[in-house]
Amino acid sequence: MVKENLKQVELKVAEACERAGRSRDQVKLIAVSKTKPVEMMEECIQEGMCRFGENKVQEIVNKQEILTQDLEWHMIGHLQRNKVKQLVGRVSLIHSVDSLRLAKQIQKDFAQKDQVAQILLEVNVAKEETKFGFMPEEVEGALREIATYPNLQVQGLMTIAPFVENPEENRIHFQNLRKLLIDINNKNIDNITMCELSMGMTGDYQVAIEEVATYVRVGTGIVGERNYNI
Ligand SMILES: *Cc1c(COP(=O)(O)O)cnc(C)c1O
Repeated sequence: MVKENLKQVELKVAEACERAGRSRDQVKLIAVSKTKPVEMMEECIQEGMCRFGENKVQEIVNKQEILTQDLEWHMIGHLQRNKVKQLVGRVSLIHSVDSLRLAKQIQKDFAQKDQVAQILLEVNVAKEETKFGFMPEEVEGALREIATYPNLQVQGLMTIAPFVENPEENRIHFQNLRKLLIDINNKNIDNITMCELSMGMTGDYQVAIEEVATYVRVGTGIVGERNYNI
């Protein structure tokens, strides 16, 4: 199942790149493996996947005990400040920095181990009440503060777009996230040059790629529906 799914997703990624006039290597596909067993991740690895997205620190710790291959781990879920310490040295990129308090904690815990955290700021680009993340108008101020944190390196912006039937409805949000990134880069804030846009999930990753996503996070489309009751 995973093999066929990955093939399909890879094909769709390539088609979206083609439509957008982008080269395939400008888009990094993340297999979102949260709640899924390591056996399923092994299947992905066999097909050449080496980039996984998780949303719980404990699950990353547990899975890394078993999967000792050279893999890229991405933290994509809401991160509690008391869990940051356990994350040091375990992930390539934290996509979900959604408050200054969290950023400050990451600075503190990574500094303690003399490491630099690669991060994205999560933006609530559609201003949904139920979502975590900075409001678009808060992002510049947050970045000016974070720019002074020596152990944080901001690579770009991330968003979780609304759940919609028709992915075209999210195109405007992806466009707005990209505009925000360009606007802020144009302000030439010291230590801030962002080039990554993490946007697009199973329902809308092709539209996100057309709107210049550099990371797409695909769970269901690769590993199937999640069952939170088990
Ligand atoms: C679960 C999750 C995904 C993957 O969602 P699918 O719709 O299954 O592709 C992507 N991003 C984040 C932040 C998630 O929590």
